Amino acid sequence: MKTNAINLNGIGMTSQRTRDRLLSRLIDQGIGCMRLLDVVRSTPRHIFLDEALAHKAYEDVALPIGFNQTISQPYIVAKMTEVILNTGKFDHVLEIGTGCGYQTAILAQLAKSVSTVERIKPLLERARKNLKLLKLRNIDFRHVDGSLGWKKNAPYDAIIATAAPQRVPEALLQQLAPGGRLIIPVGGESNQRLQLITRDKADFNVEVLEQVKFVPLLCGQLQS
Ligand code: SAH
Repeated sequence: MKTNAINLNGIGMTSQRTRDRLLSRLIDQGIGCMRLLDVVRSTPRHIFLDEALAHKAYEDVALPIGFNQTISQPYIVAKMTEVILNTGKFDHVLEIGTGCGYQTAILAQLAKSVSTVERIKPLLERARKNLKLLKLRNIDFRHVDGSLGWKKNAPYDAIIATAAPQRVPEALLQQLAPGGRLIIPVGGESNQRLQLITRDKADFNVEVLEQVKFVPLLCGQLQS
């Protein structure tokens, strides 16, 4: 991404008017939390994309960010965040799969602190740069396989996984605080379900929310 060309306010297809159309779409799809909608409205999604794709930034679609990965669809970012916001404490949040940092930016404006982990190092570095540009400083980054979570900062009020494992990693359940929620897509490429798992002391209550399509949660780390 060419940082010298970045305009946080946006022009043309990235202007506030185009962004407001995205807001209407999210509201039409049932997103109702005003605090969250305000944050989505003021977060420049175009800076998370390569310049060639910036004109599509406010369409409600996932888009490529390199390394076979995508920036999540705004609806799904909003939906996952809203579910977590509406179900309990939201002070200390862990995100699995930083990508280019868009969801991280939304979370960081709503939570007290966000920990985020990514297995592809260049993506993590890009996210770090993007979030610095937005002057968001309550974020801890780590290059690691997210199926292990991040024990050092645990327990978390909420964990948001933005890549899909075949089975829920045990470490993520163990790093939830009492009353903590894990929202995670689970399953193979053609059959994923978004699950909301709530911890009640040693018990976990699982609720299946909707059919989704995320990139897979992969093992190990990549340096480049
Ligand atoms: N949160 C991002 C979504 C990025 S796509 C957004 O807001 O757009 C999902 C990300 O999960 C990819 O960057 C991918 O590299 C990462 N990922 C996949 N498996 C992972 C793992 N085991 N640990 C950490 N990150 C992982």
